[in-house]
Amino acid sequence: MGESEAAATRPCSCKVEIVTAEFDLDGIHEEMCREWADDDGKSVRELADMFNKRVLRTAFRRADKLPIDGEIDNLYRVLTDDDTDPGSRTRAREQLRQDGVPVDDVEDRFVSHQTLYRHLVNCLDRAHEPPEKTDEERIEEWRSRLLALQSRTTSVTERGIEQLLNNGAVDIGSFDVLLEVNVMCEDCGGFYTVGEFLDAEACDCLRPDESV
Ligand SMILES: [Zn+2]
Ligand SMILES: [Zn+2]
Repeated sequence: MGESEAAATRPCSCKVEIVTAEFDLDGIHEEMCREWADDDGKSVRELADMFNKRVLRTAFRRADKLPIDGEIDNLYRVLTDDDTDPGSRTRAREQLRQDGVPVDDVEDRFVSHQTLYRHLVNCLDRAHEPPEKTDEERIEEWRSRLLALQSRTTSVTERGIEQLLNNGAVDIGSFDVLLEVNVMCEDCGGFYTVGEFLDAEACDCLRPDESV
């Protein structure tokens, strides 16, 4: 393939891009940009880990190995975490070699978070400035996130109790699970459900002009 052709479709030629091409990770640039721009998306460090794990996963696939659940995460930790004891790391590398995964090459392809940062900012021209949201939008986002969390907690609790009931571990007639999250102001003792507080947007004690 002509180099010009590759250059035309590739955003840059830094290490991140070279590894992306080598490991068929196309689409990961966009994914990383999206994650990075998102308010509760990933940090650059987490993005670098994500990228490197994809590299590791691809190397697995190419060695005709199917990683079991959590295996990639665990291996990646063993290979890269400073807290891993050297013995475990050596054993992990040895095992990978035996399985046909070229672990030295793979580790060479891992990118640091600095490299990834430069790729995002210099190559892809992304500044880390999440789009400005209004207060209303932020509040509504959190409201729906919290509601979802509460309904999840409620349904898990229901399921747990039902299961325990079926096993005869606990006993109750028909039951309801009620969950209420409250917010209390430590200055004035003002007490709100989280919904009320989000509606009010401020504790009463911080709104002297509206106090009656
Ligand atoms: Zn780049
Ligand atoms: Zn207050």
